[in-house]
Amino acid sequence: MSAQIIDGKAFAGTVREKVAAHVTKLKTDHNITPGLAVVLVGEDPASQVYVRSKGKQTTEVGMKSVEHKLDVETSEADLLAVIDQLNNDDSIHGILVQLPLPKHLNEDLVINSIDPSKDVDGFHISNVGMLSTGQKSMVPCTPLGCLMMLRDHHGSLSGMNAVVIGRSNIVGKPMAQLLLGDSCTVTIAHSRTKDLPEVVRRADIVVAAVGRPEMVPGDWIKEGATVIDVGINRIPAPEKGEGKHRLVGDADFATCSERAGAITPVPGGVGPMTIACLLANTLTACCRANGLEEPEGLTA
Ligand code: NAD
Repeated sequence: MSAQIIDGKAFAGTVREKVAAHVTKLKTDHNITPGLAVVLVGEDPASQVYVRSKGKQTTEVGMKSVEHKLDVETSEADLLAVIDQLNNDDSIHGILVQLPLPKHLNEDLVINSIDPSKDVDGFHISNVGMLSTGQKSMVPCTPLGCLMMLRDHHGSLSGMNAVVIGRSNIVGKPMAQLLLGDSCTVTIAHSRTKDLPEVVRRADIVVAAVGRPEMVPGDWIKEGATVIDVGINRIPAPEKGEGKHRLVGDADFATCSERAGAITPVPGGVGPMTIACLLANTLTACCRANGLEEPEGLTA
């Protein structure tokens, strides 16, 4: 069997179009422009790339984009003051603090100082609690993107066996909560799981979020299962020239795609969905803040 490729790049484009259309309607009907503020502390090169890309895509869908670039030595008090100002700014509906933060800053404290209704990353303790109790919350972007692709591919996920490999707060745990919310039977596997291949072989849906290049081989995959590959790993690619690299996922694409019914590629699968979902979350936050109907199909 040759798996259907789930094209995350194209899907993300569709999500952005939906967001842009809704933003236009908000402006015309209500004179409201959703605003997203991104706070970056320090000069981590990867973070700078992400922040630039977020800013560009935010303005492309017609939203207001604000960037706060703070010195690497910014004190916790100064960072909290910036967040407080954004919490109280009615033109800002989403606040994202780019992680990781420099070591002298307490990430939990900083994230939990964001107004939960503006926490478009969905990392605030209140949003984590609300997601796990099935209440309306802000949902972390990467798992939300995975859920959207799964719903699009399968329609209903009810009763399916889902195995999430990885238990991080950013991907694994919220992904498991979302799948549970869609009535899957969910197993969370991690570094201490015994007989991982056997656990994964039971899955109708496999979400791999580990960060180990190509660790899931095709013979772990049940025939016809759907594989959502969250991993982004840079590996040497001497075939492209000396010192060159390429990106691979946590699933071994060549062998997994022979057994899976559908699979997300890396790159071009889950990755592009993350920023698209950040925009969707900002729009949702804006609609909620103004007591307006939420956009359909862009939330959990
Ligand atoms: P993390 O390091 O926080 O968590 C990794 C998890 O994998 C841990 O819970 C650990 O228990 C588990 N694990 C480690 N070794 C294992 C093993 N041998 N068997 C089973 N489980 C094992 O990572 P994360 O932040 O959740 O990210 C995971 C991957 O997803 C990374 O490659 C990251 O780059 C990628 N990622 C992609 C996006 C995106 O937008 N596509 C977003 C976030 C993370």
